[in-house]
Amino acid sequence: MSAIKVLKFGGTSVGSADAIKKVVEIIMAPSGSVKIVAVIVSAMSEVTDQLIKTATLASQKNSLYKKEFLGLEKLHLETVKKLTSGKLQKQTVSDLKNILNELKDVLHGVFIINELSPRVLDYIMSFGERLSAKILTAALRDKNIMAEMLDGRKIIVTNDDFGRALVNFRKTDENIVRYFKKHQTLQIVTGFIAATEKGLTTTLGRGGSDYSVAIIGAALNAKSIEIWTDVSGVMTADPRKTKSATAIEKMTYEEAVEISYFGAKVIHPPTMLPAREKNIPIQIKNTFNPTARGTTIGNESSARNLPAKGISSISDISMLRVEGSGMIGIPGISTRIFGALAKEKVNVILITQASSEHSICIAVAPKDAPRAKKAIEEEFVLERNARLVNDTVVENHLSIIALVGEGMRKRRGVANQLFSSLTDSNINVVAIAQGSSELNISVVINTADETRAITAVHDKFFGGDKPIINVFLVGTGLIGSALLRQMEKQKNLKVVGVADSKTMTFDGGDTKTKMNLEKYVGIMKGMSLPNSVFVDCTASDSVAMVYDKLLTAGVSIVTPNKKAASGDLRYYRKLKRLALSHKTKFIYKTNVGAGLPVISTLHDLLKSGDTILKVEAVLSGTLSYVFNNLTGDKKFSEVVKQAKELGYTEPDPKDDLRGTDVARKILILGREIGLPLELKDIKTENLIKKDNFYEEKVNAAEKNGEVLRYIATIENGKAEVSLKAVPSTHSFYNLTENDNIVAFTTKRYSQTPLVIRGPGAGAEVTAAGVFRDILQAADQNQ
Ligand code: ADP
Ligand code: ASP
Ligand code: MG
Repeated sequence: MSAIKVLKFGGTSVGSADAIKKVVEIIMAPSGSVKIVAVIVSAMSEVTDQLIKTATLASQKNSLYKKEFLGLEKLHLETVKKLTSGKLQKQTVSDLKNILNELKDVLHGVFIINELSPRVLDYIMSFGERLSAKILTAALRDKNIMAEMLDGRKIIVTNDDFGRALVNFRKTDENIVRYFKKHQTLQIVTGFIAATEKGLTTTLGRGGSDYSVAIIGAALNAKSIEIWTDVSGVMTADPRKTKSATAIEKMTYEEAVEISYFGAKVIHPPTMLPAREKNIPIQIKNTFNPTARGTTIGNESSARNLPAKGISSISDISMLRVEGSGMIGIPGISTRIFGALAKEKVNVILITQASSEHSICIAVAPKDAPRAKKAIEEEFVLERNARLVNDTVVENHLSIIALVGEGMRKRRGVANQLFSSLTDSNINVVAIAQGSSELNISVVINTADETRAITAVHDKFFGGDKPIINVFLVGTGLIGSALLRQMEKQKNLKVVGVADSKTMTFDGGDTKTKMNLEKYVGIMKGMSLPNSVFVDCTASDSVAMVYDKLLTAGVSIVTPNKKAASGDLRYYRKLKRLALSHKTKFIYKTNVGAGLPVISTLHDLLKSGDTILKVEAVLSGTLSYVFNNLTGDKKFSEVVKQAKELGYTEPDPKDDLRGTDVARKILILGREIGLPLELKDIKTENLIKKDNFYEEKVNAAEKNGEVLRYIATIENGKAEVSLKAVPSTHSFYNLTENDNIVAFTTKRYSQTPLVIRGPGAGAEVTAAGVFRDILQAADQNQ
């Protein structure tokens, strides 16, 4: 047998003659080798609600129900008249009138006997789908497409839980297979409705047409199940509640169950079960934008590596709080609560238990709350008399927001992020629960805060429309850990990988594996996430040596590590070339002056056509501190010791005193100007000298009203670093603390140099600079 598929069109898709024309086009569109064998329809939009309203009015002896009925009659007859003509129209109008007369009779009965049982309501609701299926069948025939109407009650067998009946799959599947074998013509099937074995009309629960198509598709082993609606797929949040919601491309059956269970109306929760059993993908498509990709629900999740897939919410719930000092001692307390509620047929939406076990919160529909309270209080009547359990407290006007996604299984801290996004927006969290499936975290909040909360959570986890930046960090020393803290608060940024010299982890997982740089890079490349940035917060040569591979793989690099930019000149030039040719970025602005805009200012000067005549700079925060504090009455070694105690120096201060670090920085500035310098070309004064050397120097300087500064200079194509005495008129005279200062003398700034000054060291400012560079690396426009 060739491959087949089944389609379902929702209420809005058949909500008007114009919409039905679109449906006809979709059915007629070529579908390759896959044949459409069944099209399931909902009632025209709002008709089910209208039927409930009409029936309720009738049951209340309100004769206004007749007006409502006439409205329904008019809608259906007018719609079919716009879609058909001639004999076909006459026949269809007559068929519709027969159905409508039957409805009129039932409503009259309800009016007379003044009662509306669930069984009668199901019967009344069934007219919506019966009418719409008739209309669509006629509209197709009008276009010469062979189609037959099939009443779902002929094939779907349920028990008699009216309003939300349970399907007998054995009988149903048998019926479906048998029926479709005999009827090869395209079947237009009423969704939502079914019948008991005795033939009583039942319904599958509101929104149940989605379920109907899945039941039929699964029984027929369809290749795909298409659900056509009025949005372009399952979105990251209810589009009516957040403007920035976007369609989810792929999600798993489990994710779809979860997101719909927590209120995403776009798909009815049980729909996924028959489809998953047969591994049939469910496509959600937009009738009004058929070329939009839509969502595929199947075994795969989206490649976009976010912790959450979507947010859904249930707007109106009540919470029951069962509390009591004696609760810890009572055996099987939640079993008893559930038992009591089940007996009363109360549907429990969510349950949370405080870790102290002193209190259990249960979310239920408001209509169930009084019954639920009574049931629980009766169950614990003895405990209440003994004052072990308090009276059950009911809180109303609450909403549940659920964050759903497979990605949350492996990730810690999602609950915290969810929590903080709410508290940052001043939203009070009444309760929090982690679903047992680990696929969702739900919070209970006040309904008044709901829209605001959804927006806050959505912005936090999906960052509006902005692309996510995927960060791979290596190095978790002072700068790396400061950076991690700063990035935590960022919405559009995700730290995907973290490694230090010993271990590496991915996706915020708990499993650390032994660090292996090659593996780290391999895993990162394998993920091939868009907008990936490799952040090197080490001082390692070997890490710098993988930059070329990363740039080639389309990964940008941001680093305060000076090893690449101040290493071999050919490698430095190669990296710049690779970044250009692979449209990636190699940003090392924090190599000089930490967070200060030294390199960017230099770039701007050059870009604007200026010529650099001279660069003078104090580039070591450590040495700046030392010489700012070195006066004639102090020993050099003592001041160095003091600097070390303040945490300003390298673990071994000699590493600062050798001057190599400063030399590397001036080397980088030289290269930016275009000088072909290597480290060995830079004459660097070593500051590891005896105290009396400095004593003499300082005294001589003080006599002339000068101070000592360790200055790096570029002039006439040469760079050097040396200790100099500067007079009070020099801009380097008045430095404080661990300031860095850079003076550019250029053609334009020839009289007074352009000076940049500020704290040029410290983990926080450096991390802030790295952070700024990460944002720049991910910005396509820069
Ligand atoms: P149909 O009549 O086609 O079955 P429904 O009205 O039942 O359509 O469901 C589609 C509606 O669900 C959308 O118009 C949208 O307003 C609402 N909705 C709620 N949450 C979501 C979500 N996460 N993604 C898409 N739509 C959603
Ligand atoms: N017409 C039914 C309802 O409104 C079923 C459906 O639309 O799926 O609930
Ligand atoms: Mg629906």
